[in-house]
Amino acid sequence: MTAPRSASGAANSPRPSTPRASDAGMPVVAMIGGGQLARMTHQAAVALGQTLRVLAAGADEPAAQVSADVVLGHHDDLDALRTVATGSNALTFDHEHVPTEHLDALVAEGVNVQPPPTALIYAQDKLRMRRKLQELGVAIPAFAEVTWVGDVTSFGEEHGWPVVVKAIRGGYDGRGVWMPADADEAEAIVTRQLDLGVRLMVEEKVALRRELSAMVARSPFGQGAAWPIVETVQRNGQCAVVLAPAPALGEDTAIEAERMALGLAAELGVVGAMAVELFETVDGAIVVNELAMRPHNSGHWTMDGCRTSQFEQHLRAVLDYPLGDTSPLAPMTVMANILGAPEAPAMSMDERLHHLFARMPDVKVHLYGKGERKDRKIGHVNVVGAAGGHHGDATYVSGITERAQRAAHFMSHAEWTDGWDPHA
Ligand code: ADP
Repeated sequence: MTAPRSASGAANSPRPSTPRASDAGMPVVAMIGGGQLARMTHQAAVALGQTLRVLAAGADEPAAQVSADVVLGHHDDLDALRTVATGSNALTFDHEHVPTEHLDALVAEGVNVQPPPTALIYAQDKLRMRRKLQELGVAIPAFAEVTWVGDVTSFGEEHGWPVVVKAIRGGYDGRGVWMPADADEAEAIVTRQLDLGVRLMVEEKVALRRELSAMVARSPFGQGAAWPIVETVQRNGQCAVVLAPAPALGEDTAIEAERMALGLAAELGVVGAMAVELFETVDGAIVVNELAMRPHNSGHWTMDGCRTSQFEQHLRAVLDYPLGDTSPLAPMTVMANILGAPEAPAMSMDERLHHLFARMPDVKVHLYGKGERKDRKIGHVNVVGAAGGHHGDATYVSGITERAQRAAHFMSHAEWTDGWDPHA
């Protein structure tokens, strides 16, 4: 590993003299953000002979720990973005938070930004996304812009309480989403957020049966590929478990959702992986919640459960390679996030891994190199189901789901949910 460079100048860390992929004519992809998505994209880049250069805020970030080509700097600093972009074949993202005007500047300077800012804006700005989807005739919840508290109270009177108030920009994992039950609660939330300078919108609260995700990828050439529609189980506003494919989802509904996501990727000019987060309503209708234009938590199962993972596909797409086969390798794969326990257990992560492997040799573990904090995503597990099962078979599905959740819970809590004792 070479020392990270600082965006403000190379003086403290000279360019490495060791041979690298780019010296052999292999691509360099610059990724903005050093989180777990960049870390797992790096893993895919290694196999493809590429270099993933990362813009990270600190050397301890998940991707900065593993990439040999790290630029330290902030995603809202145009000079840092220029430094990481220099000499790259494509510039892409592990999060949505880069200011659009910086991306426009990079494009004007000839940087190959993928997805382009003209598409990315719909993943950055929830109000623009809602308006665009409405224009395209895609099913979405009723919504309105909020400029003062009266916008929310009148919306609640028209559509019924509770309503969903959202920050237009910058929210993630449910941060930036509030569900006031009545006008008084709405007033407190809206007044506070507007005072803080947060731009807001309001949506009807959809009566959900469950949440789904349609993941697709698209290349500049225009090739598209879709993975099977998955079910995402959310806890406290963040994804906890993903069942792939979504159990017992009708084939027609699944095909329609996949087509819609591929159509959206083409309409919006998306390049790379995109997750279309969906709600299945209690009446069985599908409405779009939001878009993420990057690898996504709902696609982590593809690392072990699919012929082509979302991370490899994202790289293939942004570099305009032909896309990979998205067929699943088993009738069912379940991903469970390893979420930090309220208090980190006394047993080390390393020891937990020993115990887990001893009991469940088939479980695939992905750790992000992050410190343990309550509810923080510190890793995930994938359990690939046995051949011969079917996603419509509730016993088969719950068996795999239970194993995945048990494994993830053990990794974060050092406790077996069924009380199993290895020494008994
Ligand atoms: P984030 O960008 O923080 O992930 P989302 O818009 O995806 O925010 O909302 C987080 C969660 O809040 C969703 O996964 C869903 O459970 C719930 N939610 C969001 N919007 C609605 C809605 N209109 N109706 C019902 N539930 C919603």
